[in-house]
Amino acid sequence: MTSAEATAHYFKKAARIMDVGERIETLLASPLREVKVQVSIELDNGEIRTFNGYRVQHDNARGPMKGGLRYHPLVDADEVLSLASLMTWKTAVVNLPFGGAKGGITVDPTGLSTKELERLTRKFVDQIQDIIGPTRDIPAPDVNTNPQVMAWIMDQYSKYHGHSPAVVTGKPIDLYGSRGREAATGRGLLYIAREIARDVGLPVKGTRFAIQGFGNVGSHAARLIHEDGGIIVAVSDVNGGVRNPKGLDVPALFDHARKSGSVKGFQGGNPCGNEELLTCDCDVLVPAALGNVITKSVAAEVRAKIVIEGANAPCTPEADEVFEKKGVLVVPDILANAGGVTVSYFEWVQNLQHVTWDEDRVNTELEKLMREAYDRVANISRTRKLPLRTSAYVLAIGRVGKATVLRGI
Ligand code: NAD
Repeated sequence: MTSAEATAHYFKKAARIMDVGERIETLLASPLREVKVQVSIELDNGEIRTFNGYRVQHDNARGPMKGGLRYHPLVDADEVLSLASLMTWKTAVVNLPFGGAKGGITVDPTGLSTKELERLTRKFVDQIQDIIGPTRDIPAPDVNTNPQVMAWIMDQYSKYHGHSPAVVTGKPIDLYGSRGREAATGRGLLYIAREIARDVGLPVKGTRFAIQGFGNVGSHAARLIHEDGGIIVAVSDVNGGVRNPKGLDVPALFDHARKSGSVKGFQGGNPCGNEELLTCDCDVLVPAALGNVITKSVAAEVRAKIVIEGANAPCTPEADEVFEKKGVLVVPDILANAGGVTVSYFEWVQNLQHVTWDEDRVNTELEKLMREAYDRVANISRTRKLPLRTSAYVLAIGRVGKATVLRGI
């Protein structure tokens, strides 16, 4: 199953339970616009290289479309389409006035200099500036893109349309970014972990977490869960991992990762491969790297009782079925990692109103929206006896469907 087929599978499963009808189902499943551009830049050595860039705008019934921008060698049209539709359902689950979109460039950014990366980003904006905008489609960071990339996007877009900080979120704090945005996805994940803890009687304090990925989502999740008393027994990144059944010294791990660029080689534990991490002895598994890492066979070996999807689409639908049979509780991406887009929404609001919120306000509002979303999803799950993922889709499809019908088809 491709990524787009997997997302369509979850959507269809919930749409059929809701009996939305074939016409509305087709309407909600189809993207509004799929754009592919060739981005050619001059490298520092004078060579010309051309990269494929994508922006897929999935749905705008509930508001301007919102979604990250990914720089990765595996980015393709199918993956971007799947991630764009996930954004439609995610923004609806947390009840933000946004639709869904996603973009990316097929590139390994580690092979480019900073100047080359800047040229690539600006050239990409030149080609999509007429379809994005503060009231149309608002990009944000995703895998391998960061506040600096967002700053270039804002600057390049503003050359065409005048000063427009609200065109992109996840900007640096010194350039219209929001306090709390950087840690928002990890923080939102912690708030969800606390809600789950209440429901299943497994408090974060003393619970053993394994986290795959130590980037924006994984590292902040690890830090905040550790500060909340959780025990981080394993972490990994693209280079490898480290585990310690007694719990890793997270501040020391951060020091090591800052100095060496990876969690690999940290002396406070034993080396651990990526698959080993996914199947290690822990209570809660947090895949927070890339999609499709938990396949059917990996799922069969997973020992955690709870999986919280920090990454987008880390579990394949086949793995999801295995978890359902094994009684593993899966908190879906469209709920678990919605903290990032929620604080992106706060950033957009601050930019449009020319105001700055302090971090306490951001975190308080984030907690409120994440808890509300969890309560709504958990309530559907309890009353309709559905898994959390299907329940989240039922909530989202209901909201997007209503907006679509009210606006007129
Ligand atoms: P990032 O680029 O900051 O970090 C990605 C991490 O994954 C890095 O530590 C990298 O080394 C690691 N990684 C890459 N390939 C790996 C592999 N094969 N095995 C193990 N680790 C690997 O990206 P991010 O922003 O943290 O995003 C991670 C995931 O979370 C993505 O699926 C993204 O779509 C999703 N997400 C991110 C945000 C956000 O606000 N950044 C919000 C929602 C969802």
